[in-house]
Amino acid sequence: MHPQSHIRKHGNEKGAEFPPDDMLDIPTAQRTAPPRAGLVDPFGRRVTYLRVSVTDRCDFRCVYCMAEDMQFLPRRDLLTLEELDRISSAFVERGVRRLRLTGGEPLVRRNLMQLVRRLSRHLESGALQELTLTTNGSQLARHAAELADCGVRRINVSLDTMDPDRFKRITRRGEFGAVMDGIRAAQAAGIRIKLNAVALKGVNEDELTEMVRWAHGRDMDLTLIETMPLGEVDEDRTDRYLPLSVVRERLSREFTLTDLPERTGGPARYVSVGETGGKLGFITPMTHNFCEGCNRVRLTCTGTLFMCLGQEDAADLRSVMRSSESDETLHRAIDAAIARKPKGHDFVIDRSTNRPSVSRHMSVTGG
Ligand code: SAM
Ligand code: SF4
Repeated sequence: MHPQSHIRKHGNEKGAEFPPDDMLDIPTAQRTAPPRAGLVDPFGRRVTYLRVSVTDRCDFRCVYCMAEDMQFLPRRDLLTLEELDRISSAFVERGVRRLRLTGGEPLVRRNLMQLVRRLSRHLESGALQELTLTTNGSQLARHAAELADCGVRRINVSLDTMDPDRFKRITRRGEFGAVMDGIRAAQAAGIRIKLNAVALKGVNEDELTEMVRWAHGRDMDLTLIETMPLGEVDEDRTDRYLPLSVVRERLSREFTLTDLPERTGGPARYVSVGETGGKLGFITPMTHNFCEGCNRVRLTCTGTLFMCLGQEDAADLRSVMRSSESDETLHRAIDAAIARKPKGHDFVIDRSTNRPSVSRHMSVTGG
């Protein structure tokens, strides 16, 4: 008997057509709607990665990210958790395989774990390969076990220094000890951690070598990030901008760095560090253009879809979604947005203008 004969029989009884061959392996429960087309932009890039900023709020005020007196969005403008799930799930239906929750600080959004739990059904069905988040780690100790239980296997924790006083100066109000507790709790729950550190001239450049040793010694990868000109902050970014080409050159005096072929469809390039056996990433939006392989789009907490981190063009999915109970118009709006995904961005940190090239903050679009 043909292994799929029950599907054929079912089709005949209902008088329906046989399912196309590529659906025969999909269990009946997952075949309620015909599969939707994947998302491919005008440059042939497949969109398989969605970053969702679940809140613009944060319990830190990192100097490169926010002004001291940030004005946050009124709560009524935010998508509800159900709406965040609805839009995210529409993207999963369209072939998004990796979903990253970010912010602001995702773990300060009230009841965020309900959203994580809901989204984890896509991991169980196999539609989603990875559900993850980027966090400052301040609330991680409380949530690590449940995140692991929801199928979160890896997270990114942002940490720019190992010095508690410096940490306070950079974040303006963060507690270093809480982040350390969070990292320990996540590791104890079996979650892999990648640390992200923004390289800042005159702030943490003297400890980057030590941070590589520290992270790799605790089985964590580390990625260094160049500051990007997103949103007005209180200080002059040109004073803090440290090209990673300079950092890499310095690190290569201490370590044997070997390029890895790995590409994530994002701006990171990776090397292995011979002396530690760990992996080190460089995110260099300013010195290296990473757009040609871009596979991602970003959804803000108000339902605005940005097709490029470095461009202003966006699509309002909130009003489209709210206009109908059916997802048809939402899918059409997603198609129209992807058809406008630009080829690339054009960041500049320039002393002559001293203006951010994109006016919204990173905490709005999500890192
Ligand atoms: N609050 C979470 C955190 O800090 O991990 C998630 C959101 S935060 C906006 C995401 C990442 O963006 C962090 O690693 C942060 O260091 C980075 N970031 C923020 N502003 C940046 C900027 N202007 N240039 C480069 N990276 C920035
Ligand atoms: Fe908050 Fe993250 Fe921005 Fe720091 S980088 S202020 S932790 S959103």
